[in-house]
Amino acid sequence: MPFFPPRFGFVPVATDCILLEERMLRRMGEVRNVIILGSGAAGLTAAIYAARANLSPLLLEGAQPGGQLTMTSDVENYPGFPEAILGPNLMTLMRDQAARFGTEIIQAEVTSAKLDAHPFEVVADDKTYRAQALIIATGASAKLLGIPSEAKLMGHGVSACATCDGYFFRNQRVLVVGGGDTAMEEASFLTKFASHVTVVHRRAELRASKIMQERAMKNPKISFVWNSVVEEVLGSELGKVTGVRLRNLQTGLENVVEAEGLFIGIGHQPNTRLFEGQLDLDANGYIVTHDGTLTSLPGVFAAGDVQDHVYRQAVTAAGSGCMAALDAERYLEELKHAPMLPAKPIAAARKPAGSVR
Ligand code: NDP
Repeated sequence: MPFFPPRFGFVPVATDCILLEERMLRRMGEVRNVIILGSGAAGLTAAIYAARANLSPLLLEGAQPGGQLTMTSDVENYPGFPEAILGPNLMTLMRDQAARFGTEIIQAEVTSAKLDAHPFEVVADDKTYRAQALIIATGASAKLLGIPSEAKLMGHGVSACATCDGYFFRNQRVLVVGGGDTAMEEASFLTKFASHVTVVHRRAELRASKIMQERAMKNPKISFVWNSVVEEVLGSELGKVTGVRLRNLQTGLENVVEAEGLFIGIGHQPNTRLFEGQLDLDANGYIVTHDGTLTSLPGVFAAGDVQDHVYRQAVTAAGSGCMAALDAERYLEELKHAPMLPAKPIAAARKPAGSVR
């Protein structure tokens, strides 16, 4: 059943105004309670909670359905799976759960968002969707080095996803750039296929957690090149990676390391381009949230990696997705009781959490 927004914007005494409002509603088409952007752990958890609250959420999956966990292998730290679960399988289960409670899921990528008017508007695959509340869970994408040879050889030996592409490097030599958990995880994973893995890190100390460091350091198939950066990926003329030219940041000396693959594991960039100038973003482009998942714009909530550069775990993303759905639910409840259109959408009421669902 379509949701009709409260009669905002008009003094509800003049017939003319009411007719005008109805015409406006017809022109606007259906206005959803809540639209969720993104289908990672945050988006799907928000969908499960919103659907169970009878909000009939619409979830627009985005360019990478299932989010970053679809690019990972064993997830060992998501509670409830003592023997680990494959990332893609975990996301399929979450999606099924969201669908089971009535989430409408559309595989479309949002290309624009208009947040300066209410209802909010998003455009995906040339179709406009409107909603009273918006939950942004668009996540973050892998960062790249930004050198021309990397772009030329992307998909031809250069990759940002070991789980996706590691299989293609059976018995070949690969390099991994980065010193964080992503790089260590990718390096360890790649030893299942590659004959040897060389980690290239720009400092002499890893950023990764101790357990991941130890795992990588103990692995006989992994070696490290410290204080070095990739200056060029070699092989453009052949259309495939043949090696890299490295530069030592301390000595300035360059050397060539031969390899058939290069994996970039240097962190992530929040997917917030569409919201620049419309929402408060921090210096690194992450959406600034306060009081849980509230953004600078009432009615717009953010959950998961798009607003979290500290924890960035599947379980924290899922937790914030739950919070966003509860915040949106309270906001919509407030909106229902609002006498008429507020100049700007009203803030979600900060009430103590209600019953556990
Ligand atoms: P991080 O930001 O933690 O690490 C990025 C690494 O890449 C750093 O070592 C950084 O160097 C290096 N780097 C960044 N930019 C460049 C560049 N342009 N050239 C060369 N090197 C560069 O990102 P991660 O993705 O590794 O981790 C993010 C979060 O996700 C962390 O909290 C991590 O714990 C978590 N995570 C957890 C996993 C798990 O538990 N299974 C798996 C993967 C990630 P420098 O150190 O000098 O800054």
